[in-house]
Order: sequence, then structure tokens, then C-alpha cells
Amino acid sequence: MRIPIIAGNWKMNNTISESLALVDGIKSNKLDEEVEKVVAVPFTSLSEVKKALEGTDIKLAAQNMHWEDSGAYTGEVSPLMLKEIGTDYCIIGHSERRQYFNEIDESVNKKIKSALKHGIKPIVCVGETLEERESGKEEIVVKEQVLKALEGVDKEDIKNIVIAYEPIWAIGTGKTASSDDANHMCGFIRKTIGDKYDENTKESVRIQYGGSVKPSTIKELMSKEEIDGALVGGASLVAGDFVKLVNY
Ligand code: PEP
Repeated sequence: MRIPIIAGNWKMNNTISESLALVDGIKSNKLDEEVEKVVAVPFTSLSEVKKALEGTDIKLAAQNMHWEDSGAYTGEVSPLMLKEIGTDYCIIGHSERRQYFNEIDESVNKKIKSALKHGIKPIVCVGETLEERESGKEEIVVKEQVLKALEGVDKEDIKNIVIAYEPIWAIGTGKTASSDDANHMCGFIRKTIGDKYDENTKESVRIQYGGSVKPSTIKELMSKEEIDGALVGGASLVAGDFVKLVNY
């Protein structure tokens, strides 16, 4: 059975004190124990949020990392640094990083392998643009992203990876993919992984949907067979909304 996973991506929001206030707001509610909960916070808030999450079952994620352990990479953050804080997950290949910071499939692949080596679980984002969807290329694009991301990744490591299907046209736009479209694409990603690895891997890999998910849309999305969770931006910045998403 695949454990549902709801992850909040705070993006470049929240100072340390604001982060702690948001965590407090989340912690003061009863959260479904059968749902895995993750908050992906800015680098500057990781340490303090980690401490604030002690005694809860909420996991901590970073939003990006470099693939090298250390070196002359000004402004970057390494997996060793994340590991020491106790970071459980790292979002890798978010479309905003692909769009604004030249993230490409090759660097996504290096980051995934490095995260796995250091025991950090990657949440790997894939998804097509509006133009690609309108020209019927979403499966070609997403398949290529998935296969390039997982190049050289062992079958045994797939259990430590979460894939987030995030159509770019649905991120931060208020447009959600229909639950049927989201389910279809998550199923397509599952099939791609099954073809590359095997049936067991296909059935066990967790695939999230992301793109303007809100408390009002989560139930329907989570009722779909292929959707194992959600990666949520905007709605994860309001404690009450994040709680509703987790307790769908
Ligand atoms: C995201 O940041 O991955 C995301 C899906 O954002 P939003 O929920 O705001 O569309």
C-alpha cells in the first residue's frame, strides 16, 4: 500500500520567525497520522523548523540542493549541510527552478543521485508547459523528464523517491488540472517507471499531483487511483488550509 504524502512548498516565503509561526499553527491541530506530512521551507528556516517539528511526525524538506558535497560553488547548499540539519526530503527540479535558474534534466539527475547517496529523499518534479499540452506533447515531454531524471538510478532506490506531476500551466495560476487528467498523467508516469524497472516498482512508487491544489479540490484528487499525494504551494502557506489538505 502506498502511504499518501502531502507536501507544502513554501517557496521563497517566510522569514525564520514567520516560519515558526506557521509551524506552530500547523502543530496546534490534529493531523491525520496515516498521511505523511512534509514542509519544504527556505534554507534559512531549516534548522529552526527542524527543532520546532521535534516530537511531531511532520517531515522537513529543502527546496533545492547542489549535487556536490562541498566546493567552490558560491551561494549553493550541499547535501551534507542539509543532512546535518536532519532534512528528510528535498524538492528537485521544480519547474520554477527549471524556468528561472536554468535547471536542466542533467542537473536534476545529478541532484537525485546525490540526495539518495546522502539519505535525503528526492521529490522530483516533472510537468509540461501549456504550449506542450495544447500541442498534445505532454506524454512525450513528461516521459523524457522522468527517464532522464532516473538515468542510472537503481530499482532499490525508487522507494525513496517521490515523483510530483506538476503541469506548469497549473502552478500558482489557480487552474487545476481536472482530476481525470491528473490521474491519467500520474498513471502514465507510473507506467513509464514500470517499463523501466518492474511491476513491483511501478506499484510502489508514490506520485503526487501539484498545481493550485486547494482544500476544496484535494478530496477529489486523492480519490483517484494513481494519485498518492499533493505538492502544494500557495495553500500550504496558511496553516488552516495545510491542515485541511492533510486531513482530506
Ligand atoms: C508548487 O509550488 O509546487 C505548486 C504546485 O504551487 P501552487 O500550489 O501554488 O500551484
